[in-house]
This record gives sequence, structure tokens and C-alpha cells, in this order.
Amino acid sequence: MKFSELATFFEKLEETSSRLSLIDILSDLFKKTDKDEIDKIIYLLQGRIAPFFAPVEMGMADKTIADAIARAFDETREDVLKQYSRMGDIGLVAQQLSNKQQATSNNISVEGVFEILRKIADTKGAGTVEKRIVFLSDLLRKVDPVSAKHLVRVPLGKTRLGIGDPTVLDGLALAILGDRSKRKKLEKAYNETSDLGLIGLTLLKDGLEKVQKLTVTVGRPIRSELCERLPNPVKVFEKMSFGYAQDKVGTQGVHATPKYDGFRVQIHKDGDRVRMFSRNLEDMSHMFPELIEATLKQVKAKTVILDTEALAYQPESEEFLPFQETTKRRRKHDIDEVAKTLPLKAFVFDILYVDGKSLIDTPLKERVKILEKVLQTGDTLLPAPGRILTDPKDLQIMLDDSISKGLEGVVVKKIDSLYEAGGRNFNWVKLKRHSAGELHDTIDCVILGYIFGKGKRTAFGAGALLVGVYDKDQDEFVTVSKIGTGLTDVEWRSIKQKTKGAELAHKPARVNSLITPSVWVRPEIVIEVLADEITRSPLHTAGKAEIKDQRSKIKDPNESGYALRFPRLVNFRDKDKKAEDATTVEELIKMFNQQGKQ
Ligand code: ATP
Repeated sequence: MKFSELATFFEKLEETSSRLSLIDILSDLFKKTDKDEIDKIIYLLQGRIAPFFAPVEMGMADKTIADAIARAFDETREDVLKQYSRMGDIGLVAQQLSNKQQATSNNISVEGVFEILRKIADTKGAGTVEKRIVFLSDLLRKVDPVSAKHLVRVPLGKTRLGIGDPTVLDGLALAILGDRSKRKKLEKAYNETSDLGLIGLTLLKDGLEKVQKLTVTVGRPIRSELCERLPNPVKVFEKMSFGYAQDKVGTQGVHATPKYDGFRVQIHKDGDRVRMFSRNLEDMSHMFPELIEATLKQVKAKTVILDTEALAYQPESEEFLPFQETTKRRRKHDIDEVAKTLPLKAFVFDILYVDGKSLIDTPLKERVKILEKVLQTGDTLLPAPGRILTDPKDLQIMLDDSISKGLEGVVVKKIDSLYEAGGRNFNWVKLKRHSAGELHDTIDCVILGYIFGKGKRTAFGAGALLVGVYDKDQDEFVTVSKIGTGLTDVEWRSIKQKTKGAELAHKPARVNSLITPSVWVRPEIVIEVLADEITRSPLHTAGKAEIKDQRSKIKDPNESGYALRFPRLVNFRDKDKKAEDATTVEELIKMFNQQGKQ
């Protein structure tokens, strides 16, 4: 396929504000795609030249891109930057200048563009910046204006297509399997390999059967298993311990571990190479040298995948630090220095692969035994102390004990459960501390827009935030609240900072809202929100399509969505969560149904 043809698809995808038409456009695109280029096209759709987890960086910031545009179209860097700051989108600047120049040739293929983008990423050593500018400016001269617009956004990591992974899978299912509901058949491979390009390539080359055989490999992150919520230990036993009844203590028991409030790190060891991935599948290997060293020292198996929670630890006071401190380790600069002042420990709670064998279909109790053998004693990788409990009273004691140590609570797991990559169900449940009157748990919301306010806040350009949660089935974001009060001026400023460049003139395709904010914001930034209560509200779209709600007094539950009462910002979660990792509608409804039941 010619790159110009791909760019017209990008154009259509960018313009649509409906998710269903996103799927149709993707399906048309995939039908026209050659077997050999499907993976590249899928990565480009995601604004990448490799899967998300591969640490491939193009290493070109605004100014270098401006240099390349200036050189391609005989402008000065200053002029390009001036236009950029006026238009707010470097793609539009490239398009406009390319228009003026009336670029000649327009025959370069997707493959050809991809190869040059790879060269840009692979360039190293002396003169790198200059070489990258030359590659990109040469390329810009070879493409038409619409292609130029989409092309320059790739090295900047700012493609504006806003397509979620499930929507790409829907597009593939519709194009190749004839029906988007067949996405389900692709999901296992997606959860176990996290590589949409690989799935597309396998599907086109070898067919569905081969896709369904794709599985865990060292080096490709597995999508993490997550927790459900239950209100108290008795409910946990009723739901999770086979054979348990109120009058008879469980025959089987549950597996309980402390819940550490750090961040998830999946450690992959392949001989003497160690890589680490975050919960949102980012490669974080370079950030935590002490964990690499410890893995090489403490893990005796040749190949291994460990599931862990990493936490900053203050050696002097022997204290585990709160999440806000730990998160300072997620940085790209001064790594060695910060590693000394904020050393990490990783609590290892699961093992998913050992010596060439996937363990995700091995029951938890056996995985735990294998982990005990594989993990040697040491200072940095510590086994999460798991216990099999057969009485809710013991679980309550463990919960209280964890909280008194400053931990978040406990995570309880079904002892014979398999590892369900990407799953959130009652195989794993979190029990947390809660304070009277408040929900048990915070809600992770995605910023969807600003509503301009009056008075001094207008100085920062916002009065309230429109926020939403994620509807996993529909792969779209639905509104749940407006957050205004309780945000400090500093927080407003940092919200503005973080959403800079994500403002949109029209509603993003994957947002479903009855409220039209003053400015839409592309769903990218996750914030952690605490609220007093979840209520029903006809103004919000979260859960509007659900009929699961039993407690509602509203005659037709379809009429009303779910909303947050007295919401307030607790934290930014943009470093460890993608928009699709926000709280889901399903979770929200479960939390609604659990209210008042503690
Ligand atoms: P929260 O916002 O409460 O941290 P979350 O949305 O990040 O939760 P949950 O599914 O609610 O994710 O909780 C699971 C998370 O808890 C895991 O992703 C992991 O990072 C963390 N965790 C801490 N200790 C454990 C443990 N012992 N076993 C499993 N996960 C643990």
C-alpha cells in the first residue's frame, strides 16, 4: 500500500466522532492491507513503529521535528515553531507547508516509510540529531500534504487517532473474520502477548487457529490479572472458598497476601537479560537497576516471568513509603542517584513462566510452590508472605495487621485459580481499609473535557473537569462526574500542563457524553478520585445501557447513568495507567451495588 493511501485512512479515522465508523474504516483498511505490511500498519495506527512494550524511541522532540520540516520546505526553524505555537499541532504545520511546496513524488510505500522511521530510531552515536533530521526531511519531500501531517506526528508520539486496542481488534475481526463480535476469539492472544501487530500478522498469514495458539513468551508482557472488590472477609469466603458456609468454616480456604501500595512490575528474565514491564505494558527496565541486579542474583532459573509489586523502602527507618514517594522512581533521568535515595524492594507474589514453560494454566497453589523454589533469599526481591486461611476471622486479623503496618489491605486469591491474563474477576479480590461514609475504594477516572468557570479559575482556563470511566465492552469512555471543588490552583495548573496538546475541537470518537464541555480533551489522563457515594443520574452516560442495577428506584434504569457524589482528586495516575486501565462501568456498578453493605 502506498503511504498516501494509508494517510487518507488516517484522515478519515481522525475526523470521525463515532466508534462504529472507526471500526468500519479500520475494517476497510485491513481488507486492503497486504499480509506483509499489516503489522507495520497496526503499529503506525498506534503511533508507533513497534509494539507498545518495545522500548523503541524515535528520539525527536518538537524542535528537531521543526528543523526537519523547515529543511524539507525551505523555511526557518523559527517560522515553523511560530506556526506550531499558533496551531498547536505540528502535523498541521507540516501539511500547510507541504501544500505550499506542492510536493512532487507521492509513490512511497508504507513499507518504505516504515523503514526510514526505523532508521531514525536506530541511529546512534555522533551526529545522530543531524542524521535524523536529514532522514525525516528527505521523507517529507517525498509525500503529499496529508501524508506529511500524519507522518510527523509519529516520531513525536502524537498521533491523534485515539483508537483503543479493542477497537483495532474489532476492526480485524470485522475485516478478516467477517463479524466484529468475533473479537472475542482474538482476545486470549492479545492478553497473553500484548502485541496487536503480531496478532494481525498471524491472522492474515496463518489464520485464526494459529492466533489462538499464540501464548506467553519471555520478553512480551502479559496483561496483568486484576482484582475485584468485596466488602468484608465473610463475603470473601462466601464467594471464594469452595465449601464455605456461614455455619461451617471453609473446607478449602483462600490464599491471602498483603496488598502493597506501589506499582506493578512484571519481571522477565531470559538468561542474563532482564526486562521489566509496568501494568500499562511499558518497558521500565532502565528505571530500576537494583531490581535487575537482584533478579540476576536471586532467581536461579534461566527463563522466568515474575509478577511483583515494587515499593520504595527507607532503609534507615525500615519503612515502606507511600505511593506518592514510590512513584518518584518512575523517571527517565538521574536514575542511579534516585535509586540510592529511594531504593526499591519488589514483593514477588506470582510466577507465570519458568524454564521454557508457561505457568498461566497452572493452579495458584502450585505456582506459589514453584515460586518458593525459584526465588532465593535476598534483600531486594522478597516473597510476598502468602497464607492459606480457612476462617474469615483470620482474614480480618490479617487485614487489620496489614493496615496497621501502613499497607493498603490484603489481596485474596482462589487457591486453585489459573492466571487469567487481562482478567478482573473473583479469582482475585482486594480488601482495603475504608473510612466511614466513604466508598471502600477510589475510582480511576479519565479526563474528557474542561468546563470553563467564572472568577479566578478562568485564569487557568478551567472551572470543572468532565471525567469518565471506561466501558470495556464498547471500548468507549462514558461520563461519571464533573469535578471542580477541592482542586487547588497548583493541581489545575498541572492538569492543564498534562493535557496540553490533547484538547480537541470535536468530541473524540470513543467518548459517549450528554454533556458538551467547553473544550474536549482526548481521553489520555487518568486521575484517582475519591467520592462519598455513587448515585444514579440522568446527566451521565456511565452504565446507561446496563439493566443490572437491582436497587434503583428509577422505573427504567436505562434512563439513568451512574454518577459520583462529592468527588475529589486524590492523585494523578497518568504514569502507571492508560485510559483503558481506568475503572470500568462494570466495576462502578458493582461498587454501587455494594454500597451500604459493609
Ligand atoms: P488500586 O487502584 O487499588 O491500586 P488498581 O486499580 O491499581 O488498584 P486493582 O486490580 O484494584 O488495581 O488491584 C490490584 C493491584 O494491586 C495490582 O495491580 C498490584 O499492582 C497491586 N498489588 C499489591 N499487592 C498485591 C498482591 N499481593 N497481589 C496482587 N496484586 C497486588
